[in-house]
Amino acid sequence: MATGIETAGLTDLQRQIVDLARDFARTHIEPHAAEWDRTKHFARDVIDEMGKLGFLGMVTPEEYDGMGLDTVTYLLALEEIAAADASIAVSMSIHNAIPTTMLVKHGTEAQKERWLKPMARGEILAGFALSEPDAGSDAAGLRAQAVRDGDGWVLNGAKAWATNGGTADLMMIMVRTDTPTARRGAKGISTFIVPTDTPGYRPGKPEDKMGLRASNTAAIALEELRLPAAALLGEEGMGFVYAMEGLDAGRLGIAIQAVGIARRALEHAVAYCVERKQFGKPIREFEAVQFKLADMATRVEAARALAHAAAVRKDRSDSVSQMASMAKLLASETAMWVTTQAVQLFGGYGYMRDFPVEKLFRDAKVTEIYEGTSEIQRIVIARSLYSRA
Ligand SMILES: Cc1cc2nc3c(=O)[nH]c(=O)nc-3n(C[C@H](O)[C@H](O)[C@H](O)COP(=O)(O)OP(=O)(O)OC[C@H]3O[C@@H](n4cnc5c(N)ncnc54)[C@H](O)[C@@H]3O)c2cc1C
Repeated sequence: MATGIETAGLTDLQRQIVDLARDFARTHIEPHAAEWDRTKHFARDVIDEMGKLGFLGMVTPEEYDGMGLDTVTYLLALEEIAAADASIAVSMSIHNAIPTTMLVKHGTEAQKERWLKPMARGEILAGFALSEPDAGSDAAGLRAQAVRDGDGWVLNGAKAWATNGGTADLMMIMVRTDTPTARRGAKGISTFIVPTDTPGYRPGKPEDKMGLRASNTAAIALEELRLPAAALLGEEGMGFVYAMEGLDAGRLGIAIQAVGIARRALEHAVAYCVERKQFGKPIREFEAVQFKLADMATRVEAARALAHAAAVRKDRSDSVSQMASMAKLLASETAMWVTTQAVQLFGGYGYMRDFPVEKLFRDAKVTEIYEGTSEIQRIVIARSLYSRA
């Protein structure tokens, strides 16, 4: 059944990494995913094991204890994890993409030594907090504030829906460093490296979500949170730019997370259509069913191919925003469409929690929302068209 990653064109190293990720996902993740979903269990032990295998430092340069792999190889591994459980995949994706990219590009050598190396070794789990209750798509409208305190800073404000917000060891937090009397819009935002055991870092209880229920998503209250000068990442006022760079990398991860979800739904659907009989024959013999499966398979391949093409571009140059948005847009809408078809092919059983496709359907939805909604991806894509015209 040709629904997964086609390994024929891969290098030996890529094939080994796909095998490692697939074996790990099928042994340590997928058998437990339904239970974790039901109980909202955040499987930190499993993520720690992934860290020991190098999955939390896949694209981090080797000099900083990472695997120094190209982005396509990283996406190949991430797809296997996402096909087993999207909740685990989102932790792997955010950690590898956003905080890692920020530190690699803008961290001082001391910050890399202190934070990036243990992140790459999987000893520290990281996340990022940009969104706020009143600033999601319009992230530059965020209001959390840092004010100078001698050499250091004091942060106050409210962050919303941070993945790993209650479970990470380290968060990259975007706050304003301009003043209420001289607002500078996006240029008034800076990024701080915040260990989550800092007094004043207060995560809320895990959100009760439609899907990705085993992922920790939490609001964060920043209350008189004191940081040293060394906690500022890069230049003051550049935090929004760093967040957008991180999101370019992050959107490739979310694209492949969506591909993993869609591919697993397709695999379940193909198997079910062989097994399920109606009108005296397996339902796969009905042309309408075959056409549906054919369209599902075609869209999964197309979404994966675009994500990989964007990954190749990312490794060749920095101008990947438009393609990263295209990849995320196509893959997330594919995941929603494919999982909807899978539920349909399972009929009444598809609507039942005892069968796997309803979870995939619920997990797929958020890929159209986080790291920029589909509408925001279309805006990014269209703007890039105008800028070239
Ligand atoms: C499970 C989960 C995990 C998340 N993890 C993180 C995280 O780790 N870190 C983090 O910072 N954030 C995180 N988020 C937040 C996420 O990125 C935001 O929810 C998302 O960016 C959308 O913002 P919003 O929810 O405020 O929606 P809004 O911005 O209020 O949008 C509402 C609707 O309006 C549309 N809309 C808004 N502006 C426009 C426009 N200009 N043109 C057309 N349509 C528009 C949107 O597309 C959407 O359909 C997470 C969210 C979820 C659900």
